[in-house]
Amino acid sequence: MYDIESYHHADSVTHAVALLVQNPEARLLAGGTDVLIELHHLNPRFRHIVDIHDLPELRGVTCSGSGHIRIGSGTTFSELIDHPLVQQHLPALTASAAVIAGPQIRNVATYGGNICNGATSADSACPSLIYETELEIATPQGTRFTSINGFHTGPGKVALEAGELLVAFHFKPENYRNKGAASFKYAMRNAMDISTIGCSALCEINAGRFREIKLAFGVAAPTPVRCAHAEQAAIGQPLTQETLAAIAEAVTHDVSPRTSWRAEKAFRLHLISTLSKRVIEQAVKQAGGEIQ
Ligand SMILES: Cc1cc2nc3c(=O)[nH]c(=O)nc-3n(C[C@H](O)[C@H](O)[C@H](O)COP(=O)(O)OP(=O)(O)OC[C@H]3O[C@@H](n4cnc5c(N)ncnc54)[C@H](O)[C@@H]3O)c2cc1C
Repeated sequence: MYDIESYHHADSVTHAVALLVQNPEARLLAGGTDVLIELHHLNPRFRHIVDIHDLPELRGVTCSGSGHIRIGSGTTFSELIDHPLVQQHLPALTASAAVIAGPQIRNVATYGGNICNGATSADSACPSLIYETELEIATPQGTRFTSINGFHTGPGKVALEAGELLVAFHFKPENYRNKGAASFKYAMRNAMDISTIGCSALCEINAGRFREIKLAFGVAAPTPVRCAHAEQAAIGQPLTQETLAAIAEAVTHDVSPRTSWRAEKAFRLHLISTLSKRVIEQAVKQAGGEIQ
C-alpha cells in the first residue's frame, strides 16, 4: 500500500535535523494529514520519512511577560482553538483554525504542517501573514528566525533549506495588541472543504479612521499574499462604506486568481472584493469601531 524505503522516529529536534542531514531526501511527518495522501499516491518524493509527530518540544502555546506569544509548530488545530491565549489575542488565527477540515483532522493536523506544506489554500497562512509572524527554524548550524512574509515561494514550496525544520511561530505584542482582526473562508461546503478563497484582516483605528490595515488572501494567487495596494488605500481614511469600496477596488491590483474546477477566475475576483469588505468590517468591530 505504501512505498516507504526508510522510516526514522526522531527523539528531539536536534535528532530530527541530524536525520535530515544524513538523508537529504527525507520528508518530515508531523500530523501526517498531507504526507499520508502523498504516501497513498506512492509519490517517490515521500519514500524516506523522519517522524516528528510526538515531540513535546514542538507542542504548546506560551506567552512571555511582555506578551510575546510562541506557538510550537507541532501544535494541532484543536489545541489552538481551545487555547485561551490564542482565543484572547489571536482571534483571526482561532477563526481560521476552526474551519479547517473537520474535528478528526483538526485533532492531528499541525499548524507547522499546514504552513510547510506550502499550499496557497492553507487556512492558517492568512492569519499568520496579518500578524506578521516570525518563524523559528532549526538548522544544522543552529537556530534562525525569518518572517512569514516571503516564506511561501511557490505552489507547494517554502523557504526551508535542506536539513531545516520549523520549530515555532512567534507573535510580537505590537502586531496584535490594540488591534482588531478577523478571518473568513469561502468554500463550497461548511466542513471538509478546501478554501475557494480565504482571507484575514487586521486593523488599528483611531478617532473614526483607519490608522493601518493588514489584509491577506489565500487561493488568490499561487501563494498566500498580503495586499499592499488595499492596505495603502485604507491609511488615514474614515471608517465608511466609501473607504471599504476603495479598498475592495484596490485589492484587485494585489491578486491574480486562476480558474480551477472549484471556481472561475471572475467568481474568485468577485469573492475577493466582497470578502475584503466583510473581513475588514469584522476586524473594525473587533477593534471597537463601526463602519458608517
Ligand atoms: C480530509 C482533509 C481535509 C483537509 N482540509 C483542510 C482545510 O480545510 N484547510 C487546510 O488548510 N488544510 C486542509 N487539509 C490539509 C491538512 O490537514 C493541513 O495542511 C495540515 O495542517 C497539515 O499538517 P500535518 O501536521 O498533518 O502535516 P504533515 O502531513 O505531517 O506534513 C505536511 C508537510 O509539511 C512538512 N512539515 C510538517 N511539519 C514540519 C515542520 N515542523 N518543519 C518543516 N516541515 C514540516 C512535511 O514534510 C510535509 O511536506 C485537509 C487534509 C485532509 C486529509
